[in-house]
Amino acid sequence: MSIQPVGQSFGRSVVGQKSVWIGTNWKMNKGPAEAVAAARALESFRPPPGVRSFVIPPFTSLRDVCSVLEDSALMVGAQNMHWKDSGAWTGEVSAPMIAECGASLVEIGHSERRQHFGETDWTVNLKVLAALRHGLRPLICIGDTLDEFEFGVSPETLARQTKIALNGVAQKDLGQVLIAYEPVWAIGSAGRPAEAAFVSEIHTRLRAVVREIAGESGVRIPLLYGGSVSQANIRDYVALPDVDGVFVGRAAWEPADFMKLVNSVSGLVSRKAAA
Ligand code: PEP
Repeated sequence: MSIQPVGQSFGRSVVGQKSVWIGTNWKMNKGPAEAVAAARALESFRPPPGVRSFVIPPFTSLRDVCSVLEDSALMVGAQNMHWKDSGAWTGEVSAPMIAECGASLVEIGHSERRQHFGETDWTVNLKVLAALRHGLRPLICIGDTLDEFEFGVSPETLARQTKIALNGVAQKDLGQVLIAYEPVWAIGSAGRPAEAAFVSEIHTRLRAVVREIAGESGVRIPLLYGGSVSQANIRDYVALPDVDGVFVGRAAWEPADFMKLVNSVSGLVSRKAAA
């Protein structure tokens, strides 16, 4: 699956309409058989106009899922990558390997990678640059910890993570980048969904950060929210002016739930496009 063309302003599709992005990370779930079954269930799904959807299976299922979804409306991504193309990096997977599987997107810097596997802002930046070199869209995950949230320094943390992640990215490549704001305290079964008003404030600040980086290119980098998104709250987040979509875990792992979530924003897309 190749990267889909995008308009000059990335949050808008080639027909000039604003896009809403909805994707799910399957994490360490779904081995090849289960993943292929899920992909087959999604194969003929058509998201509402203006909605761009993706799934991110684990590595062992990546090639199979890419094959099943090759002609579908869904993009497929990988959950992580190394910044080198090849070499003595046991257990790692590189951007060219991911691209060869047929994926078009790669998740970089998820908080579980930062928390448990030593991922840093610096390695996130190296990976972003390598992903772009190989034609993969980096989906950069940023997030504040509970301590940072409680000390009121979330905006500073997120600005730092964003600026380092995008350091050295050519203006021509900014249109390929996606950013997901995922508060560490909001994700997973122990998390609590962030208040929509808080997400709105954070995304507006992030918009200013990325606008400064995008400079005169005018590229609108899509800013997704992730963290305990569910059927009950997805519309609250997607309706926010600086939220360009959502990145979902548990609530979207079942294909039927994923399709329901994606369909549930249909009325909002045209309203956002008109805004
Ligand atoms: C995540 O871990 O990135 C995530 C968004 O998970 P959940 O939706 O299950 O909170």
